[in-house]
Amino acid sequence: METNLLIKQLKAYMSKSKLDFVKEALLFAQKNHQNQFRKSGDPFIDHPVSTALYLANMRMDSTTIASALLHDVIEDCGVTKEEINEKFGLHVANLVDGVTKLKINNPKAKNSNGNIQVIDTEQIRAANLRKILTAMSDDVRVILIKLADRLHNMLTLEALKKENQVKIAQETLDIYAPLAHRLGIWDMKWRLEDQSFKYLMPEKYKMISRLISRKRVQRESYVNKAIKEIQAEIVKSQITGNIYGRPKHLYSIYKKIERYSSQGKQFDEIYDLIAIRIIVKTVPECYSTLGIIHNLWKPLTKCV
Ligand code: MN
Repeated sequence: METNLLIKQLKAYMSKSKLDFVKEALLFAQKNHQNQFRKSGDPFIDHPVSTALYLANMRMDSTTIASALLHDVIEDCGVTKEEINEKFGLHVANLVDGVTKLKINNPKAKNSNGNIQVIDTEQIRAANLRKILTAMSDDVRVILIKLADRLHNMLTLEALKKENQVKIAQETLDIYAPLAHRLGIWDMKWRLEDQSFKYLMPEKYKMISRLISRKRVQRESYVNKAIKEIQAEIVKSQITGNIYGRPKHLYSIYKKIERYSSQGKQFDEIYDLIAIRIIVKTVPECYSTLGIIHNLWKPLTKCV
């Protein structure tokens, strides 16, 4: 299923020769991960395919997609870097090797009592930063594959033991989400945060999910009304833009509620639950649109 989706997605932007190259990597990965299964019981190959699919949605190049498909064959199948080099070239070999070697340690390791024990934070942080910078200066695509790999692991965390879920979720929130943030991959950052939130604070996660679904009808009607108003105004300025309403991400709502309560402020169940995204074609159009929005609604001077 996922495989078909991946091929379909790649066909949308890749030449036939590049697609053939990726298909070869897919075959190689399928062959090597044959008879391997994830903790969930799913065939192992689903994991690299999902990792590659996320990157295909970002329209990454064929080298990245092939490497994403092969990213676990060194570690889990004993394939050598040389073998990958012979079959798929040096770029893919370096990327797969880079992903395999990039192991990030969490300074907030749990001790045996299950309490968070910060050990040599500075040293570990410095070591992590060095690893990330080295990987990025070699090829930033290593980090992108690593992030997509982590996202799929987070999405399939259900199958793991509770203590491992918490450990991995904490590491994701402390290291991977901020990394996605620094790289400006917002979709990745939000997904990583929301998944971590789900495992680290399950009660609060449920509470916010309920709040969002309870307010869904009201929220949607407000968003649609706002979109119409914006649309009417930007058309007058001859700007063609796409306007989307989106529910805010759970973790960002949670942080906002926390912030408000520490400031003694009331969280607004409608206004604080929505966000609107407008995509225009040029930078000047973007500023004009911002001006239009500020004419329609008064900006809050204090950043909240
Ligand atoms: Mn992996």
